[in-house]
Amino acid sequence: MLDLKQQYQELKPEIELRIRAVLESGQFILGPNVMAFEQEVADYLGVDQVVSCASGTDALHLALKVAGIGPGDEVITTAFSFIATAEAIRYVGAIPVFVDIDPHTFNIDPDQIQQAITKKTKAVLPVHLFGQPADMSAIVSICHEEGLELIEDCAQSFGAHVNNRQTGSFGILGCFSFFPSKNLGCYGDGGMVSTASGELAKRLRMLRNHGCNKLYHHELIGLNSRLDEIQAVVLRTKLKQVDAYNKDRRRVAKTYNRLLSGVKLTTPYEDNRGYHVYHQYTILTPERDKVMNHLKDAGIASAIYYPVSLHKQNAFKGACKALTLSRTEQVVQQCLSLPMYPELKDEVIEEIVAVIKDALAN
Ligand SMILES: *Cc1c(COP(=O)(O)O)cnc(C)c1O
Repeated sequence: MLDLKQQYQELKPEIELRIRAVLESGQFILGPNVMAFEQEVADYLGVDQVVSCASGTDALHLALKVAGIGPGDEVITTAFSFIATAEAIRYVGAIPVFVDIDPHTFNIDPDQIQQAITKKTKAVLPVHLFGQPADMSAIVSICHEEGLELIEDCAQSFGAHVNNRQTGSFGILGCFSFFPSKNLGCYGDGGMVSTASGELAKRLRMLRNHGCNKLYHHELIGLNSRLDEIQAVVLRTKLKQVDAYNKDRRRVAKTYNRLLSGVKLTTPYEDNRGYHVYHQYTILTPERDKVMNHLKDAGIASAIYYPVSLHKQNAFKGACKALTLSRTEQVVQQCLSLPMYPELKDEVIEEIVAVIKDALAN
């Protein structure tokens, strides 16, 4: 699905130099590189504050905690996402309320959000799935009118924007993951929360570090969830390239679109109100098994993101609410993600498309 080795070869001299400097420094947790990275990424996103942490899952957990979401509260979200989105809602004891998606963008449908609001609703948690920004103007206005907190899951959308505003800057809190396969990825686990609020940032800084303000003085029950210096230097190096990487992802998507035009499947819909960064290139086809098997036989990877929607996961049994999710269920039956990474060459895309065409011709 992706090849991280090519990118590493290009970055190797700088990354190895910087990692060696960290090793020589003897400072590994929450050091100067973590602080510098937080400032650099805040500048990049155009947000006041960034607080890094140990993973995207922790970012969601920390964000929901500082937003004051807790037992008895409902959080409206999408069932077409990675489990961490809704898992974090359960960590704080709240109930995920799953609503249907827009069948074109695969993102949460604002009209459905409106219908799911109850007296218990505290927050809306949209995911910018596969790198495409959700319908933020509609979601922001619903949250504003209904007095709901807006927390964004930006794990797949680093660098995506709408009207020059980056995803992660619309809500009170934006949650990012630096898992190696993400658009900005490190060489291990990592994550961060963005916010415009100095007060929330202060609490996030305490919570990620055992709730302490001053060493060994603990104000809150927190977590051990910190980014380390080695991941920070990797991220500082890659942050300089992330716009170029995203541009290359868009080039790959365009090439797929061109080569697949006229083929009996649905290529990804791009909402021209936003800048899609193609974390995944995901097609829809009723003949998914056939396409997958042909690709597999040709030695080409493909993957189903996601084969089971969240409202059907046993982990949420009796601990979630769901509206009718017919569009989610239809997309779950037909979605197939093709290889996607910035360095993917045109010749390889041509090969992949030839196999798909062959599969659908038989
Ligand atoms: C990857 C991902 C996460 C979790 O990030 P981790 O860093 O793996 O914990 C959360 N939400 C979505 C949509 C993701 O894709």
